[in-house]
Amino acid sequence: MQAVSDLLHALDIEAAKVHFQTPPEELVRQTLALSQGRLSDTGALCVRTGKFTGRSPKDRFIVMDEITRDAVDWGEVNIPFAAKAFDRLCDKVCAYLSGRELWVRDSYAGADPQYRIAIRSLTELPWADLFCHNLFIRPEPEKRSPGNTGWLIMHAPGFSADPFADRTRQENFTILNFTRRMILIGGTAYTGEIKKAVFSVMNFVLPWYHHILSMHCSANEGKHKDVALFFGLSGTGKTTLSADPARKLIGDDEHGWGEGAVFNFEGGCYAKCIHLSEEKEPQIFQAIKKGTLLENVAFFEGTHKVNYGDISITENTRAAYPIDFIPNAKAISIGNDPKNIFFLTCDAFGVLPPISKLSKGQAMYHYVSGYTAKVAGTEIGITEPQPVFSACFGKVFIPLNPVEYAELLGRLLERHPEINVWLANTGWSGGGYGTGERISLKYTRAMINAALAGSLDNVAYQPHAHFGVHVPQAVPGVPSGLLNPRDTWKDKDAYDEAANRLAQLFIDNFAQYSAKASADTKAGAPVILDTITERL
Ligand code: ATP
Ligand code: MN
Repeated sequence: MQAVSDLLHALDIEAAKVHFQTPPEELVRQTLALSQGRLSDTGALCVRTGKFTGRSPKDRFIVMDEITRDAVDWGEVNIPFAAKAFDRLCDKVCAYLSGRELWVRDSYAGADPQYRIAIRSLTELPWADLFCHNLFIRPEPEKRSPGNTGWLIMHAPGFSADPFADRTRQENFTILNFTRRMILIGGTAYTGEIKKAVFSVMNFVLPWYHHILSMHCSANEGKHKDVALFFGLSGTGKTTLSADPARKLIGDDEHGWGEGAVFNFEGGCYAKCIHLSEEKEPQIFQAIKKGTLLENVAFFEGTHKVNYGDISITENTRAAYPIDFIPNAKAISIGNDPKNIFFLTCDAFGVLPPISKLSKGQAMYHYVSGYTAKVAGTEIGITEPQPVFSACFGKVFIPLNPVEYAELLGRLLERHPEINVWLANTGWSGGGYGTGERISLKYTRAMINAALAGSLDNVAYQPHAHFGVHVPQAVPGVPSGLLNPRDTWKDKDAYDEAANRLAQLFIDNFAQYSAKASADTKAGAPVILDTITERL
């Protein structure tokens, strides 16, 4: 790769000082010296990301150019940006970065050498550099530069765009430029923007150039090298459920699946910390130590002990750590073709069974649907959950049409009919949000472990009335009263109505894909039941 000095010269950046490939201890020291962070009692570096404590999907643009024009699925998710406007804004960012201290790092994304991309990140914040160190794959010192086809991340959180002159929506922006292989980030210090921008690049490069499926999922591996994938939208349990002392962690969020191998894109994890406890999530709790970056948490007053229950800054408190902070992480994050696939959904309506088995058509249907539900915030009087349908369990990160990813998955499932696909509801039971309760993590883990151990291979199954998914009637370690959601509701009529409502939401959402979907996939749809006839 180009020497850093040549790169800065080419960009016309005259840095006050350049820190290259700075070790984590040094970044922690620099952050503290700049009063940008504090240490927790376990040695983690705690920072605040400022105004933005989450991603801003409406400010994520893609430059429309020769490469992307006919490839990208343009719309509200993939918002076009003019190449000339990008060049102008990039020049402004470079001028802004001139005269500042900069942190530069070479790393890469993609554990499989065949499909990896080199990444060079350039930031004005030492702790953002620590994030890049923790989250991307760290090259071995002697092979520092994995090729010269790399992407450059320009990270300027302190720079504010002028929306009118710069053609942005507001002061913050994340812009992908495939021709210049650049990610330009400004106006926001939320580090998830960096991570998910690289994910979006991988979600273009892998399927488009290599016909490899890229996935928003976590992955782990059992004793017999049996791989499990956990798909799901934010907050459904990818990170939590893949951290399992009995299995090796491959990765917690982003993977590729080619013929014969599943591989992580990243070299670290970005775990939610809300209500984190040592008892429920020991591996994640213990990973929060020296070298970990903790975002937007608060301390118990007068101490340096983190109060994970305090969500006064945001509910989206996060810890970023290298994957080897999880004791049983795989050294090289690559595994076999999966044996089990879990679609995680946090169904706040309390309709979907806590675990069920899907036919191939149902698997395709649920993959394209990408359902979960968000519970309302803390506003008084608002108790209705909001349904979310996000194709491929990550629509906001996929530049191509969702059908392209679904077809790649369909082909893989056809080639591997032995793969079990499960739908796990990690959300509500016994009623929706407000009436029922979230299924305990202990039981979700027991259900997943039973599926992984093959304990559900020979039990009786009942099809769910509305969704047709196959519900096991006995799961070791789980009270059987929990397995059929209708049994957990006091008011059966209310359940039937809620199930009809949710089925209708699925059907309405799927309408946009049905023209392109196969008959098999369409047959995976739920049905609306006439509740009155059913009751007779
Ligand atoms: P992201 O894509 O934002 O990283 P994620 O899918 O990795 O999201 P997690 O970080 O695993 O989501 O978050 C799941 C949260 O839900 C955790 O805080 C976990 O403690 C909590 N939780 C409560 N009950 C359950 C359950 N039954 N199964 C899974 N998670 C649960
Ligand atoms: Mn996660």
